[in-house]
Amino acid sequence: MIEKKPLTGLTSKELSALATVLGAPGEYGYVIAKWIYRKRAKSLSEINDLPKRILKELEQEGYEISNAIGIDSFPGTDGSTRYLLTNPNGQYYESVFMDNGKRKTLCVSSQSGCRMGCRFCMTGSIGFMGNLDTSSIVDQVLVVPESKSINRLVIMGMGEPFDNYDAIEKALEIFTANWGLALGKANITLSTVGIANKLEPFLSKQPCNLAISLHSPFPEERAMLMPVENSSPIERVIDILKRYPLKKPVRLSFEYVALSGINTSEEHAKAIAALLKGLKYHLNIIPWNEHPAAQFNKPEKEELYRFTSWLNQNGVLWTIRHSKGNETGAACGQMAGKWQSTS
Ligand code: SAH
Ligand code: SF4
Repeated sequence: MIEKKPLTGLTSKELSALATVLGAPGEYGYVIAKWIYRKRAKSLSEINDLPKRILKELEQEGYEISNAIGIDSFPGTDGSTRYLLTNPNGQYYESVFMDNGKRKTLCVSSQSGCRMGCRFCMTGSIGFMGNLDTSSIVDQVLVVPESKSINRLVIMGMGEPFDNYDAIEKALEIFTANWGLALGKANITLSTVGIANKLEPFLSKQPCNLAISLHSPFPEERAMLMPVENSSPIERVIDILKRYPLKKPVRLSFEYVALSGINTSEEHAKAIAALLKGLKYHLNIIPWNEHPAAQFNKPEKEELYRFTSWLNQNGVLWTIRHSKGNETGAACGQMAGKWQSTS
């Protein structure tokens, strides 16, 4: 049996090379890219402006548009839907569609599971089932039913994108290219714990907005919450961010999971301001989303109010982001690649 090979995840250039190998003009690659990424064709038979012979040959060589297998969907009552997908490698991964009126966002996974082991994160507790290839990353945007309406992407699903940098870099090319999904780079945000040696290549290209997971301004406390602090200290990350500032239209933000009684004191607010001084940024506070793998508490309104007042006093611009998808296990840090609904 011929092994099935997905065309999603290939760039226009790679599709051209493939066309050439089949003895067709290289320009056909651009036409195929347009059908896959712009018109969201589901099968080769939909392509009606190329010779049938070429499409047949592609099929005979084992090519198909996508090899993602949608397992299940879990709609919430807040306009979000969690999708559970799998690929022929047997990896499970999740995507979440969030409908905010004009803003239609898909939260995309970069890995199956994660090996960063952050203490407050469900994905961190389930272990690591491998990197997703570019095809499985890009597929998420193409196979969900809302595909054509999506105008924003956040790479904040399962996994650490900088731990799968090459595949993510290529996916970002496909997301933003004219022959690809043609999304604006300011409409895509990649969230990372900040792996220093991947930060420089990212910042020299600036392919989309960058969100750094901060969670504590104190290195010792951060290391307790996020083991990556030991190999890639936040101070080094900030030093690199200062040397390669993000330029318009892309923006820098920091994410801060608010953990009751742990990282919401006046000292924290002061230290955040001091640590991030000299950078242009916004702080996104995410009240901790509960899950059974960790024993933190979500702060009450009063605790958040006090913390944000101290941030104001120290000149930090912030927003509280309440995660969507909480009831379906789709909110930040709850993704576990589950079969069954958690609601
Ligand atoms: N691995 C990347 C991106 C995925 S997680 C990263 O860590 O940045 C997206 C965001 O959700 C991160 O800021 C992460 O720290 C946060 N997060 C993880 N678990 C959470 C939880 N239980 N509640 C709220 N936010 C959480
Ligand atoms: Fe991985 Fe991000 Fe969860 Fe940390 S917070 S374990 S990096 S998915």
